Amino acid sequence: MAIEKVDVCIIGAGPAGATTSLFLAKKGISHLILDAAVFPRDKICGDGLDLKVMRVLRQLDPTFTEEELFENEAFVSSWGTRFFTQNGRSTDFIYTPKLGDPHPHPIFLVSKRLHFDHYLVKKIKPAFADFRSGVMVHKVEKTADGWRLEAQGPAGALDIHCKLLIGADGDHSVVLRALGERGIDRQHYAGTLRQYWKGVADLHPKNLIEVYFPKNLPMSYFYIFPLPDGEANVGYGMVSSLIAKGKYNLRKIFQQLLESDPVMAPRFANAAPLEQPVGWGIPLASLRRKASGDGYLLVGDAASLVCPTSGEGIGTGMISGFVAAQFIEKALKLKRFDAQTFEHYDREVYRRLEGEIRLYRLMMGVSPRLYDFGLNILAPNPVFQWSFQRRVGGWLKTAFEKPIEVNGL
Ligand SMILES: Cc1cc2nc3c(=O)[nH]c(=O)nc-3n(C[C@H](O)[C@H](O)[C@H](O)COP(=O)(O)OP(=O)(O)OC[C@H]3O[C@@H](n4cnc5c(N)ncnc54)[C@H](O)[C@@H]3O)c2cc1C
Repeated sequence: MAIEKVDVCIIGAGPAGATTSLFLAKKGISHLILDAAVFPRDKICGDGLDLKVMRVLRQLDPTFTEEELFENEAFVSSWGTRFFTQNGRSTDFIYTPKLGDPHPHPIFLVSKRLHFDHYLVKKIKPAFADFRSGVMVHKVEKTADGWRLEAQGPAGALDIHCKLLIGADGDHSVVLRALGERGIDRQHYAGTLRQYWKGVADLHPKNLIEVYFPKNLPMSYFYIFPLPDGEANVGYGMVSSLIAKGKYNLRKIFQQLLESDPVMAPRFANAAPLEQPVGWGIPLASLRRKASGDGYLLVGDAASLVCPTSGEGIGTGMISGFVAAQFIEKALKLKRFDAQTFEHYDREVYRRLEGEIRLYRLMMGVSPRLYDFGLNILAPNPVFQWSFQRRVGGWLKTAFEKPIEVNGL
């Protein structure tokens, strides 16, 4: 087996790895990118693309967000959120652009990951990226001057040596395992289920993404995200420490919500599931995992970068890919791949999540009763509605006007 030598190797071509590759290509930096899957491939997810995703895509190329995505039938535009609180009451937060609005964009897009990840991967530039799909890395070890990877691809075994390794291989990361960091901290991890459905009743014409906080089930939510062709992504998740503490059976709760919950069950009475419920974990950013060190950077779920209050990790993963590309460029210029070169990487990735991490800690600290009470009071409050309308303009301005800045390079 021939040894292949490269400077930069990315393991994983999900949103975080593909974004890293795309920004490296923009800088003219050659690299290898491997993924065990062959695209298009499914990924268990809610399929909601927030404004962080738009911001990164716009920075890559404004035509992606001004034309391509909105013309693509695999994407639906969502103009807001519908919250159901424990008392069964629903409140809509709908963004309605005014005449002359500089950003008359929806605030979410929803697209099956089967399509979104394929959309991204198709943009990978062969001039700079040697992208190999169907290549499973099964062993990662540190060497004197970098890393050695053992992998299995369609044409047989591969022996790859690189100076800089980018762990973009998601929640079950082989890179994290090699670093001895794969352990799960249940306080900062969520268990989730997803099931695609067709024909869910009463979806909002503006494709609101719906979130329901069921009674007596703290730090958990049930969601319905509308998809093209009358389909919907339906799911449920709860913080893992609470699953363990309350000995909850997620599948049972999910089934009950669908079959007998007074708020949700009527919506599913005449709908059809398109698959069995499938489970996956969510590594929350509140863990503050060390995301860089000698010869490596972690991006996306491998770095535990999911927003702990919403469960959104696509946008934060893509932002980390953008930030990683800047530090990779720095390392190649300096010809230095030591931890000191990446000293400020973690700060640059986490500073965008600080507020959400603080809020999550606060929420985890209150009693379930107070949590239920707070949500019941807050969601329908007109002040909250008013603040949403005011803030959404700012979020859109950031997404569509402000370049992502990286300090400490
Ligand atoms: C039920 C659920 C709902 C969610 N809902 C949302 C949502 O609505 N919006 C949102 O923003 N986020 C959501 N998330 C989180 C989101 O799915 C993740 O944060 C996101 O996928 C992270 O992207 P990533 O590129 O880091 O990892 P991934 O998308 O997991 O990609 C990792 C890639 O690495 C490859 N890989 C893994 N191991 C190897 C290996 N050994 N060798 C080679 N390749 C390998 C995989 O094939 C995969 O393609 C949800 C998660 C779950 C579980």
